[in-house]
Amino acid sequence: MPRKKAFAPHDHESCIDAALDRAAALCARRGARLTELRRQVLELVWRGHQPVGAYDLLARMGRAAPPTVYRALDFLIEHGLVHRIESLNAYVGCDRPEAAHQSQFLICTNCGVAAELDDPDLAAAAARRAAQLGFTVERQTVELRGRCPRCRETRPE
Ligand SMILES: [Zn+2]
Ligand SMILES: [Zn+2]
Ligand SMILES: [Zn+2]
Repeated sequence: MPRKKAFAPHDHESCIDAALDRAAALCARRGARLTELRRQVLELVWRGHQPVGAYDLLARMGRAAPPTVYRALDFLIEHGLVHRIESLNAYVGCDRPEAAHQSQFLICTNCGVAAELDDPDLAAAAARRAAQLGFTVERQTVELRGRCPRCRETRPE
């Protein structure tokens, strides 16, 4: 099983570059406009693999009006470029926005890194069980908390 990049040391600049390139290509293909503000918000969200809080994001956007920033976030979420971590009211970049997907998130309670679990079987199993109860799932939010591999390694015994 491939180790999630978010959990291992790596050159994060290349993550940011790749994310911005991906966004530009995706928007071009869909005829959507990646405005300078949207691009800036995306870059800020990709600052690290830790989800960025809404307030932090607004603060870093300087003079941009909050509704403008929220609209940019809505756009990025709609196109799958960014996911919202509901329990944290924070945002994190997605590294495979091309195909729509249900995300489950692994969130490290020590360093704050979040990674997508990418398990379609998990989402399908939850939807199937819900359907057995006559419940139609419209949206899934699965957020798992614990220790990432790096924080487990450094944990004092
Ligand atoms: Zn990275
Ligand atoms: Zn994703
Ligand atoms: Zn950690």
